[in-house]
Amino acid sequence: MPSLIIRNADWIVTQNQERDVLRNSSIFIRDGIIREIGKTGSSSADVEIDAKGKIVLPGLINAHTHLSMTLFRGFADDMQLQDWLQKKIWPLEAKLTDEACYLGALLGSAEMIMSGTTSFVDMYFHMEHVAKAVAESGLRGFLSYGVIDLFDPAKAKSEQDNTRKFFDYVQKLDNSRIKFALGPHAPYTCSAEMLLWAKNFAEKNRAILHIHIAETRREQADFQKQHGMRVVEYLDKIGALSKNMLAAHCVWLTKSEVGLLAKAGVGVAHCPVSNMKLASGGVAPLPEMFESGIAVGLGTDGASSNNTLDMFETMKVCALLHKAHRWDPTILNAQKTLDLATIEGARALGVEDEIGSVEVGKRADIILLNSKAPNLAPLHGKDTVISDMVYSASSANVDTTIVDGHVLMQNREIRTFSLEKTLSETQEMALRLVGA
Ligand SMILES: [Zn+2]
Repeated sequence: MPSLIIRNADWIVTQNQERDVLRNSSIFIRDGIIREIGKTGSSSADVEIDAKGKIVLPGLINAHTHLSMTLFRGFADDMQLQDWLQKKIWPLEAKLTDEACYLGALLGSAEMIMSGTTSFVDMYFHMEHVAKAVAESGLRGFLSYGVIDLFDPAKAKSEQDNTRKFFDYVQKLDNSRIKFALGPHAPYTCSAEMLLWAKNFAEKNRAILHIHIAETRREQADFQKQHGMRVVEYLDKIGALSKNMLAAHCVWLTKSEVGLLAKAGVGVAHCPVSNMKLASGGVAPLPEMFESGIAVGLGTDGASSNNTLDMFETMKVCALLHKAHRWDPTILNAQKTLDLATIEGARALGVEDEIGSVEVGKRADIILLNSKAPNLAPLHGKDTVISDMVYSASSANVDTTIVDGHVLMQNREIRTFSLEKTLSETQEMALRLVGA
């Protein structure tokens, strides 16, 4: 693999332990790993990127999405959650094919590369074909097949077979950027037996267990009625919580449920834009999660409930939502918000030793933003760069995206696959699916 130098960046936002922001520095990368950071002006490399006028950040981590749902972007908006699912999304999902999921995943990959995301956690169907798209795109994906047994033992068995099949597929793929994850959809669509099976499978194979928890108030009310306890209390009682678990949403939690998640070492994927758009009503108790030590990452959720996969937008909305909700502008500052999209997201996934910051020894997942843009001018100095990244930057400022030392985009041009072809093929596929 060719070595790479990112030379003379105006600013490097490292997100290391000290949260150092470096001025006029370079990064030397070999075999996909960051080897040197600093004034490595004299080192030479096979590939050189001139980073003058650029701001360097660790690639952003999208901790919860359903990539192929880009096909349904804008198709069903402004609806009640149950109507949205039953009348629009589920009938369309029943028509999905391998080819549709592949194309949707490629479109989602293009959007993520162009908006500065380098890693993501996915849950969907036809996952072999999602994996194929991710392999082509060059992104880093933690991919789970979405399991729903609806408390039917026969369905449970076939879902376990499907999961094992996908696990074998990922093993054979042998691509270090593509990791298998478990994907029991939610405690209200999966039996206790299934949740425990998934937990054991995840522990045995050191995989993430990706699940939706407490997205709506109705979910909590239904659990109270059926089990006489709240969702997380139920998961704790049956022994389903674990440090492999990555729980999306966690909007409607009591303080004691937050405590149970923290005790078990569960990570949370907070999806503020999706929660607001679907009018989940509550606001996830982030300050309480931080206080209890829970690792919290940020997710967009699928493009049909967001409607983008834009992590810059998600960061800003996240900070504003919590300020507005608690009447406190200090409750979630720019640095902490950036942490959620980078190093804390990596911690929620259990991969903070590999990604989430620009540090020697870590995988080279890096993005460059063009600072010569009106919305990023003027730059007042080191302390304001972080604020600029959360409150002023837009995904359109992302110029270069690098994963594992491979340049996936430069000068806003995707290099790993054809954006033009992907756009025309997904357009055709989407129209075919909705029957237009
Ligand atoms: Zn979701």
